[in-house]
Amino acid sequence: MKTIFEPFRIKMVEPIRMTTREERLAAIEQAGYNPFLIPAEKVLIDLLTDSGTSAMSTDQWAAMIKGDEAYACARSWYAFESAVKDITGFAHVIPTHQGRAAERLLFSVIAKEGMVVPSNTHFDTTRANIEHRGCRALDFVVPGGEDPEVIADFKGNMDIARLEECIKTNGTEKIPVVMLTVTNNATGGQPVSMENIRQTRAVCDRYGLPLFLDVARFAENAWFIKMREPGFADRSLKSICQEMFSYADGCTMSAKKDALVNIGGFIALNDEKLAVGLKNMLILTEGYATYGGLAGRDLEAIAQGLKEVVDEDYMRYRIHTVASLAERLNQANIPIFNPPGGHAVYLDARRFLPHLPPEQFPGQALVAELFIEGGIRAVEIGSVMFGYWDADGRFVGAPNELVRLALPRRVYTSSHMDYLVEVVVELHARRHQVRGLKFRYEAPVLRHFTSTFDRV
Ligand SMILES: *Cc1c(COP(=O)(O)O)cnc(C)c1O
Repeated sequence: MKTIFEPFRIKMVEPIRMTTREERLAAIEQAGYNPFLIPAEKVLIDLLTDSGTSAMSTDQWAAMIKGDEAYACARSWYAFESAVKDITGFAHVIPTHQGRAAERLLFSVIAKEGMVVPSNTHFDTTRANIEHRGCRALDFVVPGGEDPEVIADFKGNMDIARLEECIKTNGTEKIPVVMLTVTNNATGGQPVSMENIRQTRAVCDRYGLPLFLDVARFAENAWFIKMREPGFADRSLKSICQEMFSYADGCTMSAKKDALVNIGGFIALNDEKLAVGLKNMLILTEGYATYGGLAGRDLEAIAQGLKEVVDEDYMRYRIHTVASLAERLNQANIPIFNPPGGHAVYLDARRFLPHLPPEQFPGQALVAELFIEGGIRAVEIGSVMFGYWDADGRFVGAPNELVRLALPRRVYTSSHMDYLVEVVVELHARRHQVRGLKFRYEAPVLRHFTSTFDRV
């Protein structure tokens, strides 16, 4: 059979309350055309993020009921620790309440002012935590990695030559760690090949530098390796994950992605001395070393989620959902970022709305129209997020004007995707009528979260 269907039954449902176009128009106007300010109840299909929005399984809920809430060395801690060790192979595990807490902890211990942290591409919270320490976060993604029209298997890869150049220029004493984000979230969830992980490891070995992976989507990355990289087709998804981790000295994890839970994260690593330092900081800000800001039941849900995410039926369905959505949009001549990555499809708003210049925020305008047209909530990754005014007061747009349709894990069915495609196609047909936006209120930092807009 060719049809790939959701490998689960639904035994608990959350009703979606239908809305009218008029209601949605009023809601978006009131939200200042900012999707973060729309009440979730007014959204029909919520594709704002795949972070913390997963549906948990019966086994995860059952594990939560069994959660042991003892303060120290709870049974749930051991379940969590052994699940993390089983998949990562690292010797020390440090729980945190989410990914950025893991990053803050790591960089507060290893990064000193003036240092440099290279990566394929840092995720924005990673970058912010590095810069907060007075360090520079540098991105060395392979050429074409950020081009929505370049077709390649592993567009998330590190540019090894530029990494090595960076190490030579700055000197190893200036570099506390080399990072590799798998999949590469900031460039569209594009995968990183095993070969590239090995090559990055080889450079780190040559210069005596530690390698940490940012593994929010490690299992999605492993699936792409299985599907695309020679020699991996017959390997189990779990063993590919384990091999990825084997080349690193440690990792930071946002469990809100590939651990299939609503909250949580961790650091796992081999260096005992560093682990002790991290645990001391953890106790200061997050909680005791065996819970790190999480409840026992959260630790249980993560432990179970880490087992479920390497289930191949699940991952085949997961990646197929994204790929088939992208394929249908491509067939309808909708401009998207190709090929799709693991967790989202990105509309290319520059080509979708070519009549809107960057200072009229084509991505944000498209986000607003998706909501008005079909109650779909997406997020702009373009000039609202990354544009700026130069010294002469001219607006400099972002390199890409993208709209991310992130797919929560195990939440929506293929009929929801049918509806989504219909809305996008409908909108594309009347794209010439879409008007641009201008700031009503421009937030001074992290503009996309709280700024508001009016129609031009
Ligand atoms: C989400 C994410 C983070 C941050 O994790 P939070 O749980 O949101 O704090 C870090 N890196 C990557 C690649 C992510 O996708």
